[in-house]
Amino acid sequence: MANDSRNGLRVLVIEDQHDIAANIWDFLERRGHAVDHCGDGVSGLARAMGGGFDVIVLDLGLPRLDGLDLCRQLRAAGHGVPVLMLTARDTLDDKLRGFGEGADDYMVKPFAMRELEARIRAVHRRVQPASDTLELGRLSYDPATMLATREGRKVPLTRLQGSILATLLRDAPKVTSHQRLLQVAWGDDGGDIAALHTQVYELRVLIDRPFAQAMIRSVRGIGYRLVELP
Ligand code: CA
Repeated sequence: MANDSRNGLRVLVIEDQHDIAANIWDFLERRGHAVDHCGDGVSGLARAMGGGFDVIVLDLGLPRLDGLDLCRQLRAAGHGVPVLMLTARDTLDDKLRGFGEGADDYMVKPFAMRELEARIRAVHRRVQPASDTLELGRLSYDPATMLATREGRKVPLTRLQGSILATLLRDAPKVTSHQRLLQVAWGDDGGDIAALHTQVYELRVLIDRPFAQAMIRSVRGIGYRLVELP
């Protein structure tokens, strides 16, 4: 176990079933991980937003705010922390939706604790480096500080600008659709294409205008994408 504790991860478990949460907690702590727990979606989201976790284990069915909404809001705020979704067998469709909301992997209950730990380590490895900073060439964005950096110049962003840029960085070099950006930035609360264009315009003023070449490109009628400059 000594070897494991050296590589211990900080894991947030958001699960309302106390027996499952307790089992996960016990197992992971014995394996050298540092575990924190929330029993409902609202407190789980608040804890997750505070950052400081390597992986979040997130139950789909939660009181007050369900796992999908929690995950979407976390991503909308620009948090790239890996999320492993737990789902019951009778909600397999939701599990697939989970990927659309930004979950990195899922497990169907009941599962073996060893398997859970292996998946936690796998999703964590996949998002290395451990920093949440997103990069494309000489452009980067750190959701924790809401600072973008292009060619050494630091630019503070608003929450909306940050969530849009984080999504473009994650999707690059692929095109990000208008719809996806609307969902990421405004969730179900609305936001329309005009508002999105305004946000992207402001983002361009900050990220592109001071430089010789634009990185944010419009794909007419579809969305936007970031291009890496030579
Ligand atoms: Ca549940």
